[in-house]
Amino acid sequence: MATKDLFDYFLNRLFPLNRSLTGDANRQTLKIIQDIIPLKIIEIPTGTQVFDWIVPHEWSVHDAYIAVNGKKVVDFSVNNLHLVSYSISVQGSFEWNSIKEHIHKHPSLPDAIPYRTSYYKRTWGFCVTHEQYNILKDSNSLIDICIKTSHDNGSLTLGEFLVQGQSNKEILISSYICHPSMANDSISGVLVSSFLAKYLSCKEKPYYTYRFVFVPETIGAITYCALNQKTMQDIDMGIVVTTCGGPGAMGYKQSFDSTHIINSLAEEALSELTSNYYVYPFDIHGSDERQYSSTGFRINTVSLTKDKYYEYPEYHSSADNLDFVKPEALLDSYNAHIHFLDKLDRLVVFAPMSPNCEPMLQKYNLYPVLGGSQCPEASSHSSLDIVLWLLHKCDGKKSLQQIAHEIDCDFDLLLQTAYQLESYKLLSRI
Ligand code: ZN
Repeated sequence: MATKDLFDYFLNRLFPLNRSLTGDANRQTLKIIQDIIPLKIIEIPTGTQVFDWIVPHEWSVHDAYIAVNGKKVVDFSVNNLHLVSYSISVQGSFEWNSIKEHIHKHPSLPDAIPYRTSYYKRTWGFCVTHEQYNILKDSNSLIDICIKTSHDNGSLTLGEFLVQGQSNKEILISSYICHPSMANDSISGVLVSSFLAKYLSCKEKPYYTYRFVFVPETIGAITYCALNQKTMQDIDMGIVVTTCGGPGAMGYKQSFDSTHIINSLAEEALSELTSNYYVYPFDIHGSDERQYSSTGFRINTVSLTKDKYYEYPEYHSSADNLDFVKPEALLDSYNAHIHFLDKLDRLVVFAPMSPNCEPMLQKYNLYPVLGGSQCPEASSHSSLDIVLWLLHKCDGKKSLQQIAHEIDCDFDLLLQTAYQLESYKLLSRI
């Protein structure tokens, strides 16, 4: 079971690794997760076509620094955020004006190193603090640049773990493993997701089957969808676990269909834990929900966040570190996810056994003996109305929780009536 100490231990192990789209640090990350769950590690070769994309070369860094007068001013070995991810090799001495486009500083945090990538355009760059920027800018000497990297044929690494439930219907839980030393984005999601997988695998058989995937953002999710097209098309809902370890309030990002049950369940779960939470409507920007929600898959995914990406000043910088993310916050977030998942796993869905028009209710003593005098009551909670609503709404897709919410009816009463209708072979629980 997850504890503060365990979160602390794994945060410290995962934080220093120089993750990217590909490479050894991603493999090491997944191997560390294997200490929590028996994750399957899958390697997809460079050059594999995945829909409109191609699995990229594997990137490795051998050395990277900037020096002035023989003294290192910026050094990748001190902080891996200093090097723009996927930078090509460069070696030489340059005037400031000829390299300044390659040197990036944070727009608002002077002491922070910003996080920048250039995955698909072959270029190079360094990310520096304002102080380092000024030293370079004000230097009268030539600036020595050394980047030794390689882009080799290799593979893209994915992790997969399945918790088999009573039903083969699956729920997707995805997190991304491509960010170097930042704690909230994305280690918080990776760790909370890993411990959720452990929780579900230890739980007495859950109702749903849970598919956990650990992928580099975008290209990894696309690759996973391409390799598991049929499976992914059959999934209706899921969670992208991300940025859930900050000190701020919790919130949730809605799925693309805001009327989908997963949104009201997420809201219900958070509102039971705190009165102070954010609701972020679906947006085409964001994380891997962009792929999972695409027209070919249409998986309704939510994210339960604690300092959501884009929303905190330390986002995508060296200030998103182990001072920002504390094990206590991860534990809170984990518990909120469990509360939400427990609700999700208890979803009850009924399907009609005779969907063509209303059944003859009098046969089952469900209709008043004398017809005609019956006017619908102001409150739609008469026992007849509950029967009629159930027969109208139970289509094998909509959950009973959702119906209870829509008609403002007590869930237990609805469940009891649904079982009564099942005993008459009018509905069946699926
Ligand atoms: Zn990010």
